[in-house]
Amino acid sequence: MTNFLTFLEGLIITSEKAAQISRIIRLAYLTADGANPIATENKDLWESHSSSTDFKTLADVLCQSVIDTDLQHLFPEIRRIRGEENGTFQSDDSSNVRVQINSEKEATARMLAKALPDNSETVSKLSSIIHSRLDVPDSVRAELEHCKGSLNLADISIWIDPIDSTKEYVTCKETVADGGICYKGLPCVTVLIGAYNKDGLPVAGVVSRPFGGMADKQKADSKSRWENEIYWAYRSPETGLGYASSTCKHTSTSREKLKIATSAGEHMSFLVENPNYQLISPKGAGNKILAVVNGLADLYIVTIESNVVHRWDTCAGHAILKMAGGGIVSYKDTLDALTSYQGDLASFPFSKYEIDYRGGEEPLKDGIVAYSQPEHIVRLFSDLLVYLKLRTP
Ligand SMILES: [Mg+2]
Repeated sequence: MTNFLTFLEGLIITSEKAAQISRIIRLAYLTADGANPIATENKDLWESHSSSTDFKTLADVLCQSVIDTDLQHLFPEIRRIRGEENGTFQSDDSSNVRVQINSEKEATARMLAKALPDNSETVSKLSSIIHSRLDVPDSVRAELEHCKGSLNLADISIWIDPIDSTKEYVTCKETVADGGICYKGLPCVTVLIGAYNKDGLPVAGVVSRPFGGMADKQKADSKSRWENEIYWAYRSPETGLGYASSTCKHTSTSREKLKIATSAGEHMSFLVENPNYQLISPKGAGNKILAVVNGLADLYIVTIESNVVHRWDTCAGHAILKMAGGGIVSYKDTLDALTSYQGDLASFPFSKYEIDYRGGEEPLKDGIVAYSQPEHIVRLFSDLLVYLKLRTP
């Protein structure tokens, strides 16, 4: 048995390492063109860059390999680790480089030099970080003491999304934020590490925002440093007890309209037509789930057959939502079950229809609904059943 404190510490350190790597690669890329790494906006830098090296894929693949390698090293008993990336990318000369983190720093540096042939400084920075043991940030250390109890790692598997919202990571569009929600730009990028139990339900999640602290425009303009914001939670499958970091705090605001995060272009007519809903489309699945975690949005909905969300996108945030008394359910399974349900919706067992993380890498084509407060999901499905003429108002 491993205690939750050790487990969460490992997940947080690993995500912090990935966040640092994503910042180093981005910085190296931007400064190669002489641009200010923070102030540059409104310019599709990735596409205009002179080098053909696929920096985006390098960052993605490298972060995933580092998380994978470190977690296997820290927790060798873990059942399975899966993620979005497959471990290879194309270098400058169009050859495929297999990203492998070697036990020797020099070997890792040689592998990275193939990927970044003209950038020895970055290669050296990256290989140092990859082979260092990071400490838990001070802001996190004290809170980790709240982690009690233990878990059996042989029952635990992991989903990784090394860089969620890669489009925002790549294009460096202007940061657009309002009411605490980041809609576009680097703060939408997240590193997602979610752990689930043998029953398929999430147990622990860490969501890092490597380019945090910039969600308000003024700060972004003042060229301040990026700050890694870390959101984490765990919940023991045995006792149901757990803890969510103070960053996950829920600002409960009473809104007349339910604020619903969806992906742009996939709004169901049901949602659009209902005047009681306000639809918003911030970038990134991890970013949208965080908005629900923090109470800045009430629900995150992905419609059926939209194919935009995968298990690696939701597992980490799902663990955090569960600790808050919410969750992420399958949209279709929930609706199907409700079709023949006669009782009061407030007593409906939504948690029976949660996403099962034992499934594969295919998109969650049955759609999802993420919520932190049960009354919001009750209201959504009540309205939907009336709209579908399955219930009377
Ligand atoms: Mg993703």
